[in-house]
Amino acid sequence: MSNTVLETYPFNEEEEKKLILREYRALLRALKERIKKGDKDRIRRAFEISADAHKDMRRKSGEPYILHPLAVAKIVVEEISLGVTSVICALLHDVVEDTELTLEDMEEEFGSTVAKIIDGLTKIAIVVDGNSETSMQAENFRKILMALAEDPRVILIKLADRLHNMRTLGSMARDKQLKICSETTYIYAPLAHRLGLYEIKSELEDLALKYTQPETYITIANGLKETKRERTKYINEFIKPIKEELVKMGLKFDIYGRPKSINSIWNKIRTKHVSFEEVYDLFAIRIILDSENEKEKEDCWKVYSMITNFYRPSPDRLRDWLSVPKGNGYEALHTTVMGAGGRWVEVQIKTQRMNAIAEKGLAAHWKYKEGAPKPQESKLDAWLQQLRDVLSNHKDSDTLDFMQDFKLDLFSEEIYVYTPKGDMRVLPKGATALDFAFDIHSELGARCIGAKVNYKLVPLSHPLKSGDQIEVISSSKQKPGEDWLNLVITAKAKSRIKYYLKEQKREIAEDGKAIVERKLKHLGVPLSSANAHELAIHFKKQSPTDVYYAIAIGNIDVKELKEFKLVGDRIIAPEKIIEVKPIEISEDETLKKPAKGAELVIFGESSDKILYKLANCCQPIPGDDVFGFITAGEGLKIHRSDCPNAARLLSHYGHRVVKTKWAKNKEISFLSGVRITGLDDVGVIKKITNIISDSLNMNMRSISIDTQDGLFEGTIMVYVHDREEFDHLCNQLSALEGINTVERIETSEM
Ligand code: MN
Repeated sequence: MSNTVLETYPFNEEEEKKLILREYRALLRALKERIKKGDKDRIRRAFEISADAHKDMRRKSGEPYILHPLAVAKIVVEEISLGVTSVICALLHDVVEDTELTLEDMEEEFGSTVAKIIDGLTKIAIVVDGNSETSMQAENFRKILMALAEDPRVILIKLADRLHNMRTLGSMARDKQLKICSETTYIYAPLAHRLGLYEIKSELEDLALKYTQPETYITIANGLKETKRERTKYINEFIKPIKEELVKMGLKFDIYGRPKSINSIWNKIRTKHVSFEEVYDLFAIRIILDSENEKEKEDCWKVYSMITNFYRPSPDRLRDWLSVPKGNGYEALHTTVMGAGGRWVEVQIKTQRMNAIAEKGLAAHWKYKEGAPKPQESKLDAWLQQLRDVLSNHKDSDTLDFMQDFKLDLFSEEIYVYTPKGDMRVLPKGATALDFAFDIHSELGARCIGAKVNYKLVPLSHPLKSGDQIEVISSSKQKPGEDWLNLVITAKAKSRIKYYLKEQKREIAEDGKAIVERKLKHLGVPLSSANAHELAIHFKKQSPTDVYYAIAIGNIDVKELKEFKLVGDRIIAPEKIIEVKPIEISEDETLKKPAKGAELVIFGESSDKILYKLANCCQPIPGDDVFGFITAGEGLKIHRSDCPNAARLLSHYGHRVVKTKWAKNKEISFLSGVRITGLDDVGVIKKITNIISDSLNMNMRSISIDTQDGLFEGTIMVYVHDREEFDHLCNQLSALEGINTVERIETSEM
């Protein structure tokens, strides 16, 4: 920490000047190796501009303001390993926001790259003030992510800025402190983590804890202090044999004990309900190997193997991020072993290169050329690319919504899964087969009908595990539905599905618009935007598109347009509000026939019960995934979503499809069929009928069995109440000895 905040700042111009110059020289020293010809002048210029711009300003602590940009620039160099361009930007980061100087001035003086980065930094700063409502933080976060997608340096500098502000938070008013801390925990610490800046992340979290829960912080900090001697002694004894062995192995290394961060200790105490003394991995040691590139992994594993000769490892606490690095680039081998006195000690094994990445993030390795950032190929880049995709699909959607989706991605643990060709994809824990499909390609996601996971057929909603190999099954007829939003967890999949749903709605609305247009033409008025909005207001819809949509699906009756008054070429809504009634499909009583007491709930604006008929082609039963189709002559027909006709109906007449869901009803039975194959065995029919009639108490309509070459194939027709009951039957039958397959049959085959 370069910069100490004093309680009352001694105002002495000479002293101050000396201090400022000292800090400036320290910055240049830190940057030393990276300064090329001409850089020094530009840095000096940036420093002068900043010093001049802030010359009358002081921080809350009383110190001259310029010490802040200087400190931020130094963090940028020393703790994030960025170069000259970033230093210039850090020095100037508050200038445009706080003074008369403009972005154009910056561009003229330092070129477009610097100006762009400063612009990004300023945009983030603008939203920082204001209430710390969630929506504000969400909006703030979104802006940060946008900036990140454009040039990661914006965020890295912003993190340095935030880190320095957190280090000097003591002189702020209490409410400001809390607000800044909440932003830090909500936005900046997770970002630092995602970017692989572990040290910065830990420090940010510790500082936030220090100001939000000072008592907790002090208790733990004191606990660490009090136990320090004892811990050091323990660690030294633990390390001793390892050290000796490492020397014998001829390895160059660094080994040291490392206290856990205060915040992580607090998390453990809080979530595991243990005392400070019980936090078992209070002990952690780190071994940093100086290995040649091609021997890195081998050396790490050798060391692991050697350590386990001395100490017993906990079998479920080995973390191999050597073979598969974390998504943020972290590489290391972690294990937890039992030390003397039965205490668990976490051991981290990595090389110097890996350690540099762990401490300074991949930023440490990004090679920036003046002009454009050229990050090296890495998973972090893949993540940035994904971020750009999500952002560009999210331009006009709800920010809070977006945040929720995105935060899930940011915080969740990762799983590693594979394509059929063996390419690895990283997904958040809990991701489903459908998430995977969208991760590969949005079109593939949109057309996904299922997947094979490790060669086994699974539904869209199937949650994936690390190591799974997934083959996506798609159909050109498939279309995303509203319910898909419940089947995915990744921000990418969610945003794409929302996009498709919107497109679908827009298409349907086109039909409705045509209807309105015709109707208005009839009345002799155009569908002007004024008239369209009059409709929206009258029908209490958010937009004319929503009105068209409601008309297209029959939730608004166009006949109501007759009630409008005409004034010139304008329509004026009638005084009294007309009830919006759901359209009646048909009054024909015969429609009720197949299922007495219509037991279907129609999703949508109205939940009124509607008359319906079950489609013959697929004979749905309650519990099946179904959809309603408005037919020309017979009203609403219910088809199974996997009906052989479904794809054609959905793709050709999508606008006539109504979302439907079954209500619970145990009174009506539905006829359904099972095809069953297996080994021909004398007792098999008896066993089957026993299950159906005796143990499940179902009504069987028919059973027929054909046998050939020692195998049998049978068809059983039974009455069931719902899908659950049907599935239960299938499970029971499958469990019988000698049974090969049990599957449902389509009625058309019966
Ligand atoms: Mn600042």
